[in-house]
Amino acid sequence: MNSRKLRWFVIVLLVYCCAEVALLSVPSAQAVDTTSWFRLLTVDTNLAISLNGSKLSTKAERIGDTILVPLSILHQAWGAIYAVSPAGSALTIGSRHAVWKGMSATYHLDLLDFPWGVAPVLSGGQLYIPLRELMEPMGAFVGKQASTGDMIVAYSTKWQKEPWLRQGQLTQLETVDLTHTNVKRVATTRKVVAFTFDDNWDAVAAVRIAELFDTYNGHCTFFVIGTNVRMHPDAIRTMVRLGDDIGNHTLSHPAATNITDATLIKQIQACEQVLNGMGLTTRPYFRFPYFAEDSHFMRIVTDQGYLTIGAMWTIEDTGPERSAALSVATVRRFISPGVIFVGHANSMATFDAMKVILPELARQGYSFVSISELLRGH
Ligand SMILES: [Zn+2]
Repeated sequence: MNSRKLRWFVIVLLVYCCAEVALLSVPSAQAVDTTSWFRLLTVDTNLAISLNGSKLSTKAERIGDTILVPLSILHQAWGAIYAVSPAGSALTIGSRHAVWKGMSATYHLDLLDFPWGVAPVLSGGQLYIPLRELMEPMGAFVGKQASTGDMIVAYSTKWQKEPWLRQGQLTQLETVDLTHTNVKRVATTRKVVAFTFDDNWDAVAAVRIAELFDTYNGHCTFFVIGTNVRMHPDAIRTMVRLGDDIGNHTLSHPAATNITDATLIKQIQACEQVLNGMGLTTRPYFRFPYFAEDSHFMRIVTDQGYLTIGAMWTIEDTGPERSAALSVATVRRFISPGVIFVGHANSMATFDAMKVILPELARQGYSFVSISELLRGH
């Protein structure tokens, strides 16, 4: 650690020691629901601020190109705790900390320096701080909604371990309302396609599919059922080792429409716990069994820290009509850049279809991406 870093380290320590006694409650703060950390904050071109679609009474401020928002909004949105001490100001959300020196533009985030172009300002008794400059290094996704010009900031403390979110590289999500949209495709001209496979009933087929994608230097995504994971944990480990994404498909595959909200939450959490038991996670992707979903259920999923992933097309590999030939024909018909297909890791028919279609798509110049890769624009 060089002397500069050491100096900062000491300052950070001091701030946290002092924070014990100097913790200030933020004015006009509402009770924060700590079970629900995902929030979408938007600032429109008139500087009106909305939280998960509801307009707030406070407005943002603009200095040059920098948008500043009151600290109390960050408390409302993400439970941010603000502390002041002689050493400076500290903001904490979950396990992430930012520290800055009073009203100067000098600041410091988790032992890294990110210079602010604009210092915080006091206005109407409220402290305003630069929104993008603070929240992006905190791990939030910050983007501009292409159609409206609104600035959007999406953040869940449950995402903090997701490096691609921390890098703020979710360019493809700029046109997506994360709280209501079920992601089915992303707008892109790049020849990428995301194959997803649900259920993992047939562990052998699932592993063969994962290995096949690997031979094309590609990835796919498996939405797994917790009880099936318990029976075949090694299949899941193979998928992870090969770089595929694992998403949550509940513990035992009930339709959300047939169970209570509380049971849906338990189903999601129990699936996550099975993976946690293996040192893995299903975050941040979820797919509804039977695609039985609506905006109410999606909000529950969002509150659990997940994005709902849909599919543009099913490859028709379930039901009495299924055959590898039918699946191949479906993919041929509907392939286009950025599309998400859903299949099922339930029988060798799906693997057989992939064996035919992947080389064909590769010849056309397609590459095969996981949901993470699709969303971060790789
Ligand atoms: Zn399913």
